[in-house]
Amino acid sequence: MQQAPDVHQAEPIPAAAREAIEALLQSGDLFRYTAPENAPVALLEREFADLLGSRYALAVSSCSAALFLSLKALGLPRDARVLIPGFTFAAVPSSVIHADCVPVLCEVGDNYRIDLADFAARLDDVQAVIISHMRGHTSDMDAIMTLCDARGIPVIEDAAHSLGTTWNGRNIGTIGRVGCFSFQSYKMINAGEGGILVTDDADLVARAVIMSGAYEHNWKKHKGPRGENSADLAEAFGRWQNKLPLYNLRLNNLSAAVIRPQIPELARRVRDGRAGHDHVAARIAVSPHIEVPAPLPGEVRAPDSIQFNLVGLDEPAIRAFAAAAERRGVKVQVFGLSTDNARAFWNWQFLAQVPDLPQTRAMLMKACDVRLPVHLTAAQLDAVADILLAAMDEATQAAAA
Ligand SMILES: *Cc1c(COP(=O)(O)O)cnc(C)c1O
Repeated sequence: MQQAPDVHQAEPIPAAAREAIEALLQSGDLFRYTAPENAPVALLEREFADLLGSRYALAVSSCSAALFLSLKALGLPRDARVLIPGFTFAAVPSSVIHADCVPVLCEVGDNYRIDLADFAARLDDVQAVIISHMRGHTSDMDAIMTLCDARGIPVIEDAAHSLGTTWNGRNIGTIGRVGCFSFQSYKMINAGEGGILVTDDADLVARAVIMSGAYEHNWKKHKGPRGENSADLAEAFGRWQNKLPLYNLRLNNLSAAVIRPQIPELARRVRDGRAGHDHVAARIAVSPHIEVPAPLPGEVRAPDSIQFNLVGLDEPAIRAFAAAAERRGVKVQVFGLSTDNARAFWNWQFLAQVPDLPQTRAMLMKACDVRLPVHLTAAQLDAVADILLAAMDEATQAAAA
C-alpha cells in the first residue's frame, strides 16, 4: 500500500506572482488606494467579476469580512433575524453577530444540504438569509430563491468553499443578491487570507465599498463592468458619502498579486478536484458502511475534500474507524465527535441560545470529512481510498469480534 499523502501541503503559487510582488516591494506601493488607477486589488476585482459574470466585485480581508459587509450593506436593523444553515463554519454565525443581527439556524439533511421544509417553516420572521454552500455542497437554489423572492427576503451566498461550482449552468455566488468567497489557504485560490464579494446591485456594492474603508473620495477608484465609469455606481456613492461607518476591511496589493495569477489556474483545479473526488467516492462507496451523498441534479461541484456518512456503525466503531485511518496517515474528521469542531453548531456557545437541531446533530455524528487537495496524484488518491477501506475493515472486524 502506498504511503498516505500530505493533505495539508499547498500547491505552489504561480511564478508570475513573483514579478508582481518584486515590483510592489520595489515601489512600496502596497495600499490599494495609492495608485490613481489599475492597482492590483482593483484589477483583481475586475478579473473576478468577469470570471463570475457579475457587474461588481469588492475584495476585502476575508470571506468573514465579506459576509459582515454584505449584511451591513443590506441595511438590516439591529437584532434583525438572519436564517443560516445549522451545518456551516463558525465564521457564518459569527459574521451575523458581528453585524448586530441574530442568527437563526435551520436543519440540514443527511446530504449536507438545507432541509427545505424546515427552511420554509422558519422564513416568515427572518429579514435575511445566508446560504452556506458548506464544503461546496449546493442546496436547491431554485427552491430557495423562489421561497425568498416570494417574501422579499434577500439572499447572501456564502460561497467561501464553492468557487467554480455551478448550479444549472450558473456560477454559485451569483444567484443570490450577493455572493462571498474566501482566499484563505484551504480554498480553491490561496492567498493565506482574503475574501471578495460579487453583486449586480450598485447600491449594495457602493455601501459595502465605503464601509470596507474607501474613505473620502477613494470610492472613485471603483468602477463598473469592464472598468468603465458607471452612472448607477456614481449616483449610489453620492448617496452614501459620509453616511456610513468605515470598518477598514480592505485587501492589500500584495495579496492581490498572489491571487491574480491563480485565476487562470482555476479551471484546471476545479477539473482535477472533481475528478479526484469522484474517483475516491466511487472507490470507497463499495463499502456497505460508507455512503457518499450524490450531487443534486443541476449541481456541478468543485470539491477539494470529500464528505461521507458512516452507515450501521455505533459510536465506538466510528471512533475506531477514524483512529485506524489516522494510524495509517489519513485524518478523518467526524464533524460531531471532537469537542471543538467549529462546524458542530453545539460548539457555537457564543450564541445567545444554542438551538436543538436533532436531524443536523444526527448527521454530524456520522459525517466524515477528509481533505483531498486538487494536486493529489492518481496514486495518492488511491492510497487515500485504500487506507479508508482498510480502516473500515479493521473497525468492523473489531466490532464483530
Ligand atoms: C472558510 C470558510 C469561511 C470563512 O472564510 P474566511 O476567509 O476564513 O473568513 C466561511 N464559510 C465557509 C463555508 C468556509 O469554508
